Amino acid sequence: MQKPNVKDPIQLYINGNFQAAHQGHVFENLSPYSADVINQVAEGQKEDIEFAVDAAKNAFRNGPWRSMKVSERLEYINKIADLIDEHIEEIAYLESLDTGLPIKQTKKMTSRAATNFRFYAEMVKNRIVGEAYQVDDEFLNYTVQKPVGVAGLITPWNAPFMLETWKVAPALATGNTVVLKPAEWSPLTANKLAEIIDEAGLPNGVFNVVHGFGETAGAALVAHPDVELISFTGETTTGSEIMRNGAASLKRFSMELGGKSPIIVFDDADIERALDACVWGIFSFNGERCTANSRLFVQDSIKDMFIERLKERVSNIVVGDPMDMDTEVGPLIHKEHYNRVKNYLAIATQEGAEIYQGKIPAGLESGNYVAPTLLLDVKNDMRVAQEEIFGPVLTVMTFTSEKEVIQLANDIRYGLAGYVWTNDMKKGHRVAQAVEAGMLWVNSQNVRDLRIPFGGSKSSGIGREGGHYAFEFYTEMKVIHVAMGDHHIPQFGKKQLT
Ligand code: NAD
Repeated sequence: MQKPNVKDPIQLYINGNFQAAHQGHVFENLSPYSADVINQVAEGQKEDIEFAVDAAKNAFRNGPWRSMKVSERLEYINKIADLIDEHIEEIAYLESLDTGLPIKQTKKMTSRAATNFRFYAEMVKNRIVGEAYQVDDEFLNYTVQKPVGVAGLITPWNAPFMLETWKVAPALATGNTVVLKPAEWSPLTANKLAEIIDEAGLPNGVFNVVHGFGETAGAALVAHPDVELISFTGETTTGSEIMRNGAASLKRFSMELGGKSPIIVFDDADIERALDACVWGIFSFNGERCTANSRLFVQDSIKDMFIERLKERVSNIVVGDPMDMDTEVGPLIHKEHYNRVKNYLAIATQEGAEIYQGKIPAGLESGNYVAPTLLLDVKNDMRVAQEEIFGPVLTVMTFTSEKEVIQLANDIRYGLAGYVWTNDMKKGHRVAQAVEAGMLWVNSQNVRDLRIPFGGSKSSGIGREGGHYAFEFYTEMKVIHVAMGDHHIPQFGKKQLT
């Protein structure tokens, strides 16, 4: 593949135009691999958000988007999917360049992004919506589901293109218009998405992208009274700030937040498969994955063997250039995040944990590399066991009984995902049902079916994405009451006339 050109600067996409930020400010986008500046990015602020929301509102109220035939709208959605497929190599390259995620993994995610559009086109086409209520011959009451209006979508940097499309696809397919605020550390593929949507020919204003920082551009989007809903994926603390800031204009929120998900390995599990799943689940995507199994609970009776095997695997993980197809772990997104993860390793030592690490080969010194890490001798009340580290770091703990491990797994504020490994299926169901999390996998590792609800409980989120749950979120139910006869209407204000 010829290396794609990286746009410099990347611009905002508002009302069908690529344009500079109103105040002309830009910020630098840095390479996680070399620390060089990749490009400049237009820094959108409050005024740019206002332009984008006005464009989206106008497109919603006055444009053809929400009133066109569904089949016609879905042609646009499928066209976006086709264009993503045509550009998979380029998008994966840009994603790896921007985030440091290994290219083998970004290729898979990009293909999933095209699937997101096709899936929601199909879902909207096939979804039978509305209910009729008729209790007598006098009235017919029925419901319809309409698009909500301007959707504000705020996304993180950890799987940017896939997560953006996971929101943009259902929002557009159901007839809303969109203002997307991508994460400031990963603007490249959001810009590519704007180019693709532009090429697909969507009416002006239906899809808008405003790059910029969370405290300015993101906050302005949340506060804007014409934005009807906010779909947010990111950190738990940011989620609660967004809910506070959006409360004044009473928005509808979807919150996909942080996680610290347990993987529980019982001594009767298929050990090889549990080991594969555990290693992949924490070290893929550089450990920067919301559903990563970052807390291992391994049963006492197999702990020595299992930890030995984990150490072997960790020592063999290929850390390298994200553009190399053999690389399994690349550099972390940004120096600031690297420092945060490193700080957790210092905290682990202070708290009395033992650190075991894999290798970082020579020649990668400029990148934000953290070696694949095991934290051993961890207690559940340590900070490293309770807080989301969001890097290639696995905290390892042990347990003796089913009752104990359920308590340990639940003794945390997060509740996004969980994984249970056992060959006793009664126990598998029991534990999966008892662990407080939105998504549990038994003898499986994060296999996703787009029809299934995705989301967390406790501090990991509010609401669900995926399947018809996204359809409900991006549509407003409305009831229509129709009189079929001349029912009695109270006669007010008529007395004085007679
Ligand atoms: P973050 O919360 O720092 O930022 C996410 C987005 O919010 C960015 O676009 C940022 O600019 C914006 N933002 C920040 N402050 C804002 C504010 N005050 N108002 C409006 N917008 C604001 O998160 P991150 O570091 O980009 O992403 C990593 C986090 O995302 C991790 O906690 C991870 O677990 C979580 N995550 C969750 C899921 C899920 O589905 N549950 C998926 C992926 C990532």
